[in-house]
Amino acid sequence: MSVRIYPLRTGSVRVKSAQCVRKPGGPLRVLVDPQWTDPLPIYAWLIDHPEGPIVVDTGETSRAMDDGYFPSWHPYYRWAVEMDVGEGDEIGHRLSLLGIAPSEVRTVVLTHFHTDHAGGLHHFPKSRIWVSSGELAIARGFLGRIRGYLPNRWPSGLDFRKIPFGRDAFGPFQAAYPLTRSGDVTIVPTPGHTPGHVSVLVTIEGVGYFLAGDASYSERTLLEKRPDGVTTDPWKAVDTLERILLFSRQRPLVYLPAHDPESVSRLETGRTLSLPTGAGASS
Ligand SMILES: [Zn+2]
Repeated sequence: MSVRIYPLRTGSVRVKSAQCVRKPGGPLRVLVDPQWTDPLPIYAWLIDHPEGPIVVDTGETSRAMDDGYFPSWHPYYRWAVEMDVGEGDEIGHRLSLLGIAPSEVRTVVLTHFHTDHAGGLHHFPKSRIWVSSGELAIARGFLGRIRGYLPNRWPSGLDFRKIPFGRDAFGPFQAAYPLTRSGDVTIVPTPGHTPGHVSVLVTIEGVGYFLAGDASYSERTLLEKRPDGVTTDPWKAVDTLERILLFSRQRPLVYLPAHDPESVSRLETGRTLSLPTGAGASS
């Protein structure tokens, strides 16, 4: 059996255009920006692997449509985001359409804890959920809620596992953690969008598929090395984008962010990143 990647679309989200690309004022600008994006997809991913199915991110829950699910005291939820998630969009249903029961999924990776990536955690009460220790630390508790995470919505008793990154670099990335014995699924740190953000690299027949979470919102903003508007560390975000671009010079790489409307067509056609001259050369 060969490895395959399937998109799991868990609804859509509209955000401010100052969130997709950082404008002067950064996160505050996001709140007051009058310009909204079109609805953007919310993708999670299934890696159908001979060692067992692996899910990357869990998407958003349809409960996000209920009054009071998001904290109305939080300015981001009050002014800067609109979800559209039906019951049939939830990841459990998306997986069952592919013939996989969520209870069969032993391994889940969260790129980060933002609600549209962690909203489907309740489908995986018995799975190992790999997260970076830094991300878990900042997402928890009341401070986590102020930062916009929803730790109060995580089901209790989840089996969070801190990713034991090694000390050795992996290409341009500072560390890596192999998730499969065959070595074809690897977690790499991609800090910036959030301090503990990670991405997942799947290698199939010599081509890398980079499940990028929110490392950037689109391939275009990766190529333009533009940080998003909600990062608290735009320099780190750009540093990560440069590392991804450098990596794509070392091997063919299909770039798959969670909210890029073009991600699925790139997955289906296998279209790899092609860099304009000079891109990625600076690191
Ligand atoms: Zn995010």
